[in-house]
Amino acid sequence: MATSASCQSCRFFDEHKTNGGAAAGDEGLCRFNPPVSQPEPKGHGLWPVVDAKDWCGHFSTGAQPAE
Ligand code: SF4
Repeated sequence: MATSASCQSCRFFDEHKTNGGAAAGDEGLCRFNPPVSQPEPKGHGLWPVVDAKDWCGHFSTGAQPAE
């Protein structure tokens, strides 16, 4: 399927590198869903790391969420 969708142009893409340094370069965080729980009882939930050029079926353009 040809598409012009990309995470970097999706309203849910967050270029901030806040996942403990996991995101780098052309990667960012997807904020479509809540953070993913970790198995450790006190582990912080992690936002999924996505490639800026990747995309998924939840792609959406539009206004960025308020900061
Ligand atoms: S994974 Fe889907 S919802 Fe998340 S930033 Fe990429 S296109 Fe958007």
